Amino acid sequence: MSYDYDLIVIGAGSGGVRAARMSAQAGAKVAIVEEYRYGGTCVIRGCVPKKLMVYASAFAESFEDAKGFGWTVGESRFSWPDFMAAKDAEIARLEGIYARNLGAAGVELHRARGVVTGPHSVKLSSHDRELTAEHILIATGGAPFVPDVPGAQHAITSNELFELPEMPARIVIVGGGYIACEFAGVLNGMGAKVVQLYRGKRILRGFDGEVAGFVQDEMIKKGVVVRLETDVAAIEDPTDRGIVVELTNGEKIETDAVLYATGRVPNTRGLGLQEAGVELGMKGEVVVDECSRSSVPSIWAVGDVTDRVALTPVAIREGAAFARTVFEKEPTSPDHELIPTAVFTQPEIGTCGLTEEEAVAHREIEVYSAAFRPMIHTLSGRDERMLMKLLVDKADRKVVGCHIVGHAAGEMIQLAGVAMKMGATKEDFDRTVAVHPTAAEELVTMKTPTR
Ligand SMILES: Cc1cc2nc3c(=O)[nH]c(=O)nc-3n(C[C@H](O)[C@H](O)[C@H](O)COP(=O)(O)OP(=O)(O)OC[C@H]3O[C@@H](n4cnc5c(N)ncnc54)[C@H](O)[C@@H]3O)c2cc1C
Repeated sequence: MSYDYDLIVIGAGSGGVRAARMSAQAGAKVAIVEEYRYGGTCVIRGCVPKKLMVYASAFAESFEDAKGFGWTVGESRFSWPDFMAAKDAEIARLEGIYARNLGAAGVELHRARGVVTGPHSVKLSSHDRELTAEHILIATGGAPFVPDVPGAQHAITSNELFELPEMPARIVIVGGGYIACEFAGVLNGMGAKVVQLYRGKRILRGFDGEVAGFVQDEMIKKGVVVRLETDVAAIEDPTDRGIVVELTNGEKIETDAVLYATGRVPNTRGLGLQEAGVELGMKGEVVVDECSRSSVPSIWAVGDVTDRVALTPVAIREGAAFARTVFEKEPTSPDHELIPTAVFTQPEIGTCGLTEEEAVAHREIEVYSAAFRPMIHTLSGRDERMLMKLLVDKADRKVVGCHIVGHAAGEMIQLAGVAMKMGATKEDFDRTVAVHPTAAEELVTMKTPTR
């Protein structure tokens, strides 16, 4: 049977774009269908604009810290509209690059919502047109999840935050995950009064417990009001004075915006997958095998929609592995072991491998942990600490967990991740000469286990 294409990709985000380009470069006839903007969550309303906001928000502390080094800093003021205009221009530039690169690889671009209508067919809803392909790749990512509380329609999610015309002077952020914590730091740094609500006992669940507690303490010191074991009962209709949030303990908080960052769900609703026979999991994720193939042999899925590891570089790797499997005829399963990652909280986290809680559950370990005041704050006077932590398997001496909190933690963990991926032992770390004076040298100078 002949089809219009060898491959139709639904979703031009991190995973879809990589899969489409590599498949086209391998000689396949490829179409990509995108309902919003090329680049997907990461470029348009995720990692990239978020990191730009982190940079913008960090200047306030730099101006203060400069005084300790002899600088007199004049009056400073942050303009949200000026920042947003600069951010939007950069995002538009990146989106253009994504579209051009797809075109240059020979991929046909369709700006439409795609709906699967069978194992080999996709309907472009806005165009009332059906395309056929030998393979279909679902790369539709995820969407913010907002619980069904009364008044939830008055809340925003990260999607809307990136487009607000004005910065809310007061904001309630609901959630304790990494995105909630990152936005708490960003908005606090930009000068908003931030109250973060989390129903659990400590934010950043799933991260190393010592790291999560450390970051929580530092965030509180910087001015974020963290309210634990608290949730929203209802959000009242907005008035001239703002929005009133009623908490489960009966207390009320008046604010200007409510941001829900309570997790993300795979984007499969209304996509026609179940009707086409594709098995979905409990959260609506596409269930795939180790090569990203769904229960329907011609339909594949990569990225956040599969609910494996929801990170851009992982979606990219999964997209590349798909292209290699299908069009380079080399079955390839993406490697999900030892993924280094950063969280752009303030202070920042870099993490790779097991948490202490995970490690002690399965093996005997040595924990090396050091908290200290980084050199810059000896003169800045800022009361901020860093944390360096290594978890070592006692049996084979391998470093099975590395956790860093502090300035440039994300940059450091990328390199520690290389060593860990190579199977470095604690003794390999120890025989590496320290880079002095840096904070990173702590990673190779921790001699005695803390526990
Ligand atoms: C606020 C925020 C911050 C983040 N920060 C980081 C970070 O610092 N580092 C990191 O690694 N990851 C980060 N992430 C996660 C990262 O953005 C995702 O893991 C990554 O974008 C997933 O790529 P994807 O290809 O699976 O999907 P996406 O990038 O989400 O792309 C999916 C695309 O599919 C389109 N689409 C959906 N349905 C249809 C349809 N039916 N028809 C046509 N098109 C459709 C969407 O419009 C979208 O463009 C962040 C996410 C958020 C929300």
